[in-house]
Amino acid sequence: MSKRKSMMQEDSSYLSQHYEEQVRPCIDLVDSLRSLGVEQDLALPAIAVIGDQSSGKSSVLEALSGVALPRGTGIVTRCPLVLKLKRVSNGTAWSGLLSYQKDFRLFKQELKNPAEVGDAVVKAQNALAGEGKDISHNMINLEIHGTNVPDLTLIDLPGIARVATGNQSHDIEEQIKRLIQTFIKKQETISLVVVPANVDIATTEALKMAKTVDPDGQRTLGILTKPDLVDKGAEEGVVNTLRNEVIPLKKGYMVVKCRGQLDINDNMSLTKALDKEKKFFVDHSHFRIFLDEGQASIPHLSQRLTKELVYHINRSLPKLEKQVRDKLEQTNTQLINLGKGVPQDEAERLNFLIEKINRFNQALTDMARAEEEIGDSQSRVFTKIRKQFSGWKQTLDKKATLLGEHLRDEVDEFRSQRGKELPGFVSYRTFEGIVKRHVEELEEPAKELLQNTTEIISTAVNDTSKSFFEAFPNLMRAAKDPLEDLRDQEYEKAEERLASQFKMERIIYSQDGLYSHQLQTVKSNPFPKHFKNADVREMTYHLNAYFAITSERLANQVPLVVQYHMLEEYTTRVKAAMLSLIRHKDADSFIQEKSDIAKKRSYLLGRMERLRKARQVLAKSVLTT
Ligand code: GDP
Ligand code: MG
Repeated sequence: MSKRKSMMQEDSSYLSQHYEEQVRPCIDLVDSLRSLGVEQDLALPAIAVIGDQSSGKSSVLEALSGVALPRGTGIVTRCPLVLKLKRVSNGTAWSGLLSYQKDFRLFKQELKNPAEVGDAVVKAQNALAGEGKDISHNMINLEIHGTNVPDLTLIDLPGIARVATGNQSHDIEEQIKRLIQTFIKKQETISLVVVPANVDIATTEALKMAKTVDPDGQRTLGILTKPDLVDKGAEEGVVNTLRNEVIPLKKGYMVVKCRGQLDINDNMSLTKALDKEKKFFVDHSHFRIFLDEGQASIPHLSQRLTKELVYHINRSLPKLEKQVRDKLEQTNTQLINLGKGVPQDEAERLNFLIEKINRFNQALTDMARAEEEIGDSQSRVFTKIRKQFSGWKQTLDKKATLLGEHLRDEVDEFRSQRGKELPGFVSYRTFEGIVKRHVEELEEPAKELLQNTTEIISTAVNDTSKSFFEAFPNLMRAAKDPLEDLRDQEYEKAEERLASQFKMERIIYSQDGLYSHQLQTVKSNPFPKHFKNADVREMTYHLNAYFAITSERLANQVPLVVQYHMLEEYTTRVKAAMLSLIRHKDADSFIQEKSDIAKKRSYLLGRMERLRKARQVLAKSVLTT
C-alpha cells in the first residue's frame, strides 16, 4: 500500500488499489501543466460545473471539497472559480491557497482554515468583477489540500440568471451564458450540469446549453440535486431521468443530496451532511437502488468524477501533445517575424542599427535587380514596371498605324497651307510639320509613364521600409524625409530629361545610313492602293521611314530615363541616405522599439518557455505510462 493513506481508502468501494499508479500521475500531469500556466495557451482537461441559479452547484462543490463556499441569493459566483482539490496523507494539515491575476500582477493568499475560504473568495471576486453584481471572465484559483478531498479540479461558474436584479446589467443572462459557453464548448471540458430533481429537467437552461455544445452528451454528466424535495408521487419521473430515459446523455445522470437551507441555518457540518445523505438514500424506497448501483450520493459522485477525469485526460493526451507542438511552431514563427530584441550595450546597439539598415538596403538592391522576395499574391516591382514599359511601346505602335492610315489627309492638309511653292510639290516643311505634330502628341503619354512607374516604385519602397522599420517609429520617421525628398528630386530630373528629349525630337534627325536603310525597308512593303498621287506616296515613304526610327528611339529612351532615375538613382540615393542615419546624432533613438512590440515579444517568449516545459512534461508522461 502506498504511503498516502486516506479516509477514502477505508471505504473499499471508493478507490481501487491502482489509484497511486493510475489516477495520481494523470491528475498530477495535468496539474503540472496547469501550474506552468499553459492554460492560457491551450485547453486542458477540466470539469466545469454549470446550472441555473439556486440549482445547488455550490452545495455540490462544497460537499465534494469539504469547504464552505460563498452563498446567498442572486449571483453569488461572479468569476470562474477553479477549485483544485488535492488529497494529502493523514496527519498533514489542511491548507488552502487562493490566487488570481489582475493587471499582469499575481495576487496570492494563503489560507490556514476552511472557514477563511468564503471571505477570501468574495474579496477576490470584488477585486476582479467589482463590488456590484457584474461578472468577470478572470479566474480565481483556489487550491485546497486536505485529507478528505478527492483529487479533482473543478471549475465553478456563475449560475444562469433569468432576470437582472438591482444594479445588474440588463444583459446579465447573455453575459453569463457567454462566459459558460467559453468553458463548455471546449472538447477538453466535461460539463457537470446541476439540475434540481424537483423541477422539470426539460426546462433547465443549463442542460439546453450543454446540449448545444455537446449534442450526444459525450462530455455531459447530469447531476440531480434536492431529491428530498421531490413531491410524493413525482419520484417515478426522477427515476426515469436517472435511468437516462428522459433526456439521454452518454454519461448519464447521478443524484446527490446536500445540505438544505435548514441544515445550513443549523450549522450542520459537511461530514454530518454526508451521513444524513447516506441515510436518506438507504431509507428511500425509490432511490435506494441508485445508491446500490453507484449512481447516488456525494462519495459516489466524487469517485465517478475522478474516474471520468482520468479517462478524459488519457483520451486527451495525444491531442494535447499535438496542440503543444502546433502552438510551439506558431509561436516560434511569430517570434521570428517580430525580430530579435534591441540589445542594451551601446556598441551592440549601433551594430543592431547598421544591421537593420543593411538589411533594408539589401532589400532595395534586390528590388532594383528584380530579385526581391515576394508573397504569393504579389508580383515583383520590376514585373509591374515592365508592364508599364510595354504599354508605352504599344502607344508608339498605335501611333505608327494611325499615321499610315491618315497620312494622305494630313499631307493634303499641309499642302493646302502651302506658301509659295508650286502645286504638287511636296516640301520638306510639310514633312517636318507632320513629324513634329506626331512626336508632340507622345509627350503626354511619356509623362504618364513616368508618373505611373514612380508610383509603383514609391509604394514598393515605402512598403519595404514599413516592413523593416515598423517596430521602430523613430527610425520610420527619420527615413520618411529622404524617401520622399529623393523621390521628388529624381522625378523632377527625369521629367526634365524627358522634356528635353522631346524638345530634341523637334529637330528632324537621323544618321544618313540608318535612314536610307529604313527607307528601303519601307519601300519594299506593298503600298496601299488609294495613294495614287506619286509625290504623296513619296512623302508617305519618308514619313514612315522617319517615324519608324523616332519610334524606336523613344521606345528605348523614355523607359531608360525613367528606370535610370526612378529605380537606379532613387534607390541608390535612398541607400546612401539610410547609411548616413548611422552617424545621425539621434541614431540611438532610432532603435527604440514600440513598447507594445517589446511587450508582445516578451509575452511570446514566455509562452515559448511554458510550451517547451509542457512538451517535456508530456514527453515524460508518455515514457512512464
Ligand atoms: P447555486 O446557486 O446553484 O450555487 O445553489 P446553492 O448551492 O446555493 O443552493 C441553493 C439552495 O438550495 C440552498 O439553500 C441550498 O441549501 C439548497 N439545496 C442545495 N442542495 C439541496 C438538497 O439536496 N436538498 C435541499 N433540501 N436543499 C438543497
Ligand atoms: Mg452558487
